[in-house]
Amino acid sequence: MTQDTLQKFIFENAAVRGELVDISATWREIQARHQYPVAVKRLLGQMVSAAALLSANLKFNGSIVMQIHGDGPVRLLVVECDSQLRMRATAKLNEDAQIADDANLTDLLNQTGRGRFVITLDPAEKVPGQQPYQGVVPLDGEDVATVIEHYMLRSEQLDTQLWLAADDNVARGLLLQKLPLHGGKAEAHPVSPEEALETWNRAVMLGRTLKEEELLSTEIDVLQKRLFWEETIRVFDPVHPSFHCSCTRDKVGNMLKMLGQAEVEDALAEQGKLGINCDFCGKHYEYDAVDCAQLFASDAPAEALIHPTEAKH
Ligand SMILES: [Zn+2]
Repeated sequence: MTQDTLQKFIFENAAVRGELVDISATWREIQARHQYPVAVKRLLGQMVSAAALLSANLKFNGSIVMQIHGDGPVRLLVVECDSQLRMRATAKLNEDAQIADDANLTDLLNQTGRGRFVITLDPAEKVPGQQPYQGVVPLDGEDVATVIEHYMLRSEQLDTQLWLAADDNVARGLLLQKLPLHGGKAEAHPVSPEEALETWNRAVMLGRTLKEEELLSTEIDVLQKRLFWEETIRVFDPVHPSFHCSCTRDKVGNMLKMLGQAEVEDALAEQGKLGINCDFCGKHYEYDAVDCAQLFASDAPAEALIHPTEAKH
């Protein structure tokens, strides 16, 4: 079995960092559970690459949830990534949505300008009452990379450039990021702002020579050498993202509790038992009348969950 790889590097003596990711195996696992139209696959695969690239730089113990809420034929794209780079993703489409192979982000998710890009940081260990951090911005851009670049600049004040590509088999990405200069901190090789800006501009220029086709067809170690062979870069130990679904029977039970006893009992009366499939991995959970009675008998209150499946009211 092939293993996915995320490779971090920095430009020596310059405040620029880079990452290349090949997340194709994880991407194929995500798709194995769904049949998505070509255009949806392209966007979701690009988001999976982007989520891995952004998560790898977070010094944060928890999950990053990246969502695009759409106003077109696609209602939602979701990617989750935890601090060990374990990922899952899913898409929700309108019923009977007709989607052309070459449909872009605007066609699919931002037809009337009401699409939203949402990033949620959900800590693994929350103190009671703690809310996850959430950033919400309009879909400012024609593709996933541009939307995220704008988000990173406005919300995180980080100049970031992304190149993302995905098809049925492959999902890869390149990230370049200009790091803030450490004001007043004594360093062995201090970088002047001019020098840092020059390296950043050069790195971005090299990145811009990368075409989508080339990103899809070339291994990331080859790409790194091909793009940056004239630069002095330091390469770190690679890390390995993977597919993992965090669904459990407890979490599904919690979701039922949040629906409320009346609604659950109505559904039980109609169907005899409740069958729920995980949106991410397709795992099937069943609750009969006895299971449901037990859920509502326990005094523990339903714990608020960040669950990207739509909240039913
Ligand atoms: Zn699952």
